[in-house]
Amino acid sequence: MDDGTLETFTGFRVQHSIDRGPAKGGIRYSPNLTLDEARALASWMTWKCALVNIPFGGAAGGVICDPDKMSKRELERLTRRYTAELIEVLGPEKDVPGPDINTDEQIMAWIMDTYSMHVRHTVTAVVTGKPLELGGSHGRTEATGRGLMIVCDEALKRLSMNRDQTRVVIQGFGNVGSNAARLMHRRGYTVVGVSTSTGGLYNKNGIDIDALIGFPGTVETDSAGLSVADCDILIPAAVENQITSRNADRLKAHILCEGANGPTTAEADDILADKRVFVIPDILANSGGVTVSYFEWVQDRQGYFWLESEVNDQLDHTMRTSFAEVLQYAETHDVSNRIAAYMLAVGRVAYTLRQRGIYA
Ligand code: NAD
Repeated sequence: MDDGTLETFTGFRVQHSIDRGPAKGGIRYSPNLTLDEARALASWMTWKCALVNIPFGGAAGGVICDPDKMSKRELERLTRRYTAELIEVLGPEKDVPGPDINTDEQIMAWIMDTYSMHVRHTVTAVVTGKPLELGGSHGRTEATGRGLMIVCDEALKRLSMNRDQTRVVIQGFGNVGSNAARLMHRRGYTVVGVSTSTGGLYNKNGIDIDALIGFPGTVETDSAGLSVADCDILIPAAVENQITSRNADRLKAHILCEGANGPTTAEADDILADKRVFVIPDILANSGGVTVSYFEWVQDRQGYFWLESEVNDQLDHTMRTSFAEVLQYAETHDVSNRIAAYMLAVGRVAYTLRQRGIYA
């Protein structure tokens, strides 16, 4: 630590599947991180990558720490040591980390640099979500938020709703939430509520998101109440287990678009089904992040970088195709969007397993 004392931190990396390609998944820094949480996140990544049909398996990891209480230098040392411990495990052909809660492009840059130092040459493709100058991709920072907007656009078409009259509440104002808010505000949605872990803002007439960004100190009302506030689309984009049996029956939104991983409990899911809420499940809704991470990995390996418009067009195509496939499955098999998404994803992984000859 900066004061010369020594502290020990516990970190994890879980690889759930490498059947369809190298393991891929986020790195989370959180005081509450558990191995079980990393296991769940790793398996969601397997299904998410299969659902959007990109050639990755699933992984997840992180370190139990509180970044709010650490200096930048301490975070750098922690990140470099975590990476060094995982040298045998990581690699462009093995396991490719990316950003998640409390990790950003600076942390991804340190991972890239530490890995490269150990293997004695620059390996940009070992991690995604890097700064543009170090092999990052245009459009990666806002990719998850952009993906959320694209699937909301598609849902509105299905439900014959009008974007101009659609009010959106977003829980969480980090990478995913703030980018979704900014992009959706610009596209003509009315963002009526946003929140962070310390508080929230609600204005039934809409919030000027561009003015809000840069003034994070202005948020001051209750955050929990926002989940049940009056709106048409609710986007949980913070942490797990926010929509539960305690609040699901009071939700007013017609559409639940899951930006976070696992924001809805199984009990709440049943309640939402009874209320006929249109759910865009996490493995579909927030898959824009890993999709552009895949584009970043491809560009790094090609050594040829795409224009932002090209990245966004490809993302648009992937999200719309996956959305249509999930809806088609849901109709054909008469199941919820969530079950349909899992059927598609599990089916793809199982098919790959059979083709690879696991059961031969
Ligand atoms: P982040 O650290 O950038 O932001 C998290 C935000 O959530 C912060 O604004 C924090 O204040 C807020 N928050 C935490 N607890 C809250 C609470 N109880 N109520 C309201 N706000 C709360 O993290 P992120 O990268 O934006 O990730 C958010 C979620 O999206 C996570 O579930 C993550 O797994 C998922 N996700 C992220 C990506 C990505 O590309 N970063 C991709 C797919 C899914």
